[in-house]
Parts: sequence; structure tokens; C-alpha cells
Amino acid sequence: MTERSASEATDVTIIGAGIVGICCALSLLERGVRVRVLDKQGPAEAASYGNAGVISPWSCVPQSMPGLWRSIPGWLLDPTGPVSVRWRYLPRLLPWAVKFLRAGRADKVVAIADAMDALNRPNLDLYGQHLAGTGQADLIQESWYLHAYRDGSAPTLSSLAQRLRTDRGAPVEIVGGDTLREIEPALSDVFGGGIVIRDQARAVQPGRLGKALAEKARRLGADIQRNGVRRLIPDGDGRWRLETDRGALDAPTVVVAAGPWSMQLLGPLGIRLPLEYERGYHLEFRDPGVTLRHSVMDADRKFVASSMADGIRSAGTAEFAGLDTPPDFRRARILKSLTKQMLPGLNVEDTHEWAGTRPSFPDSLPCISRLPGHRTLFAAFGHSHYGMGMAPKTGQIVADLVTDTTPNVDIAAYRADRFL
Ligand SMILES: Cc1cc2nc3c(=O)[nH]c(=O)nc-3n(C[C@H](O)[C@H](O)[C@H](O)COP(=O)(O)OP(=O)(O)OC[C@H]3O[C@@H](n4cnc5c(N)ncnc54)[C@H](O)[C@@H]3O)c2cc1C
Repeated sequence: MTERSASEATDVTIIGAGIVGICCALSLLERGVRVRVLDKQGPAEAASYGNAGVISPWSCVPQSMPGLWRSIPGWLLDPTGPVSVRWRYLPRLLPWAVKFLRAGRADKVVAIADAMDALNRPNLDLYGQHLAGTGQADLIQESWYLHAYRDGSAPTLSSLAQRLRTDRGAPVEIVGGDTLREIEPALSDVFGGGIVIRDQARAVQPGRLGKALAEKARRLGADIQRNGVRRLIPDGDGRWRLETDRGALDAPTVVVAAGPWSMQLLGPLGIRLPLEYERGYHLEFRDPGVTLRHSVMDADRKFVASSMADGIRSAGTAEFAGLDTPPDFRRARILKSLTKQMLPGLNVEDTHEWAGTRPSFPDSLPCISRLPGHRTLFAAFGHSHYGMGMAPKTGQIVADLVTDTTPNVDIAAYRADRFL
């Protein structure tokens, strides 16, 4: 097949085979759209591999909340704290940080919570549909989310965060330390109480989940290639010419789902969006000696531990250092002592460390949108801390946009022009 006739067999080219790009592919295939997916690595090898695996229909609390600014100086000054900034990067970060804090005003967070809710609420049903026929439905397991606090009087249902959840019907309960340990016997008695969010799930191998769904997309006809896109060039008549590692490709319609790398492709087209890079780390304990049935967050130290196929994975940290600065794996090693504090019986001998980057907009919401000035160019990126949960609904909305179908949720909050 010549290059032109090969591209005639493709309606939509998706750049990025993270969990978001893969879910876009599956939803487009369901509508009968012919799909090509290009990824410079393989499917689900970046953040979609290394995350904490929490998949919560009840995830509606934005990162920026009223009063958060009071905690930030303490976090930054604590070398084991959950947030760090490479100081040389601070001037680049400041405009985003101002927008981030503004997004956390009390008059903004309710609308953001609604928009998060619309993306997350259907996630378990949609994953169930996507996993049907893969024989790997057990990659997602029903579980709860425990937020464990040292101070037993700290968890309360009257906080704004919990009200955002309970107002939307989340099954949230306050429990004492003993109940926490009845639910998760491996937990330390340093925790005096906690919050339990029921009726959610966790991916026990997030990377494997992405690959299983990519394999399904391939079986349904998607052309999935390991191929990096270097440049997107408008080719007249609304078509695109893609300069790739393996030559030029022609594309009628393009969906950019390249996670934190998305702006590298869109910036040269003059598109400016306030996407920031929050590097996270995980440490996996390969022979942990203890197990967890649920996702457990140390609510004071802000990291999440979960039993996965390869051991216990502790994940967290938001490091602001830009996209290309090399990782500082000391941030991952901090998780060794913190997880040992959480789980005293943990064997910490055999560990594996990982770093990856969350693509984050200031308002905790992704960009799922036709891009201004380009009829055939769509964005599906910026899912920050919530991409595993938000990916399936994102895919559905992208399929709606591409096929000119009216989405069944209000998508104004995800539009690219909200920043203009
Ligand atoms: C430590 C940590 C813990 C997290 N925990 C959770 C959690 O518990 N629950 C949750 O919902 N979310 C969590 N997240 C967030 C979640 O992992 C991300 O939001 C999600 O993985 C983003 O998916 P993505 O497909 O947009 O991006 P990615 O997974 O980053 O995929 C982007 C893909 O694009 C490809 N690509 C980039 N540029 C190009 C190019 N030019 N050409 C071709 N391919 C390209 C890359 O190779 C990559 O495969 C966590 C993140 C981190 C870092």
C-alpha cells in the first residue's frame, strides 16, 4: 500500500497510547471509525504504567482547594514532604501556580467538582465494557479507598472536601483507628482514624490494563504503531501531515493524547495552554510480606499504597521541575521509610523505583476539546492526578466530538478556550 492509500484507511490518528489515547481508540472503534494510534514507546508505558491505580467514581475533589496555600510552605521546606520545586524552575512555574491557587477559590471548586464527577462517575461501568472479551477483567478489582490520619479527630464529614463527595452521593464514612486496622490489618497503630470511601476499584497492574485494552483495540482493527511524532503540519483542506520517526504520514483527523508531551506538538502551531508537569514517583516493594485489600492513602504524608501484581506499590509526590529535567530518585526513596511507617510488617529489602509525569492544568480538569482554529484537531490530555479514572469517559467525549454527536454531559469545563 502506498503512504496515501494507507492513510485513506484511517479516519483518525491518535498521538499517544497512554490510557487516555487507548480509551479514545476504543470509543472511536465502537462508532465504526477507523483508527491509527502512534506512540513513541509502547502502549501504557509512561504515567499510565506507574500510577497508584486508584479508579474512583467518587473522585471529585480538585487539587487546589480553599486554604491549601497555608500548607504549601511547610510542604516545600520538608525534604520528605509531598511537594517539591526545583528552585531554578520557580520563575517558569509562578504564572501557573497563581492560576492554580485561583482555581481553588470557594466560588470555583463546586463547578470543578461537578466537571470531575461527570468524567469519573461512569468509569467502572465503562472499564467493564472495555474489558469485556479481553479475558482480563480481573485487572481491575473492586475495593475501597482508605484515607488514614494520625490524629483521630482530623477526619470529618463536615470538611469542604468531604461535602463535595457526599453531596454527590459518595459512600463516605469516618472510622476510628481500630476499625481501620480491622479493614486493613497491616496498617500501623500510628493511625488514629480515617475516612473510608466504598464502591470504587483499583487497577492491580495499570500498565497491563493499558496493554490489554490496546490489544483489544488492535483486534477491533486499530493500527497501533511504535512511532514518535515529531511535528504536526496543516496540509490544506483540514488534513494533517505528520512528520514521524518512520517517515511522513497523512492524516484527515488528529487527536493529541500525548499526556505531558502534548504541548511539544501543539506549541509550534501557536496553541498556548497552561499545561504544567507534576512529576510523581513510585517505589515498589517486590517481596512485601504484607498485603493490602484496598487503596490506602497516608492522608498526612499524601502518598497511596496498594497491593499490585508485583508487590506493594507506594506512589505519590508532586515535583515541579519541568518536563525534561532528569528525575531525582531520592524522592522515590523517601517512600521507603514512609511506607514502613504505614505498614510496620513491610519487608523493604527488594525495591524498584520509577518516575513519571502528570500533565496538569491549573483547574485539575483535562482539555477534551476541538482545538481553536483547527476543525480536525482534537485535544485529550491534561488529566493530572486522575487520568486512570477519567480516561474512559474522555474517550467517549472524543468520539462524540469527532463524529459530531452531542455529548451526554456538559463539556464546557474541558474546552481549550476556557484559558483564552
Ligand atoms: C505517581 C503517580 C500516581 C498516580 N496515581 C493515579 C491514580 O491512582 N489514579 C488516577 O486516576 N490517576 C493517577 N495518576 C495520573 C495518571 O497516571 C495520568 O493522569 C494518566 O496516566 C495520564 O494518561 P495519558 O494517556 O494522558 O498520558 P501518558 O500515560 O503519559 O501517555 C502519553 C503517551 O504519549 C506518548 N507520546 C508522547 N509524545 C509523543 C509523540 N510525540 N509521538 C508519539 N507518542 C508520544 C508517550 O510515549 C506516552 O505513552 C498518577 C500519576 C502519577 C505520576
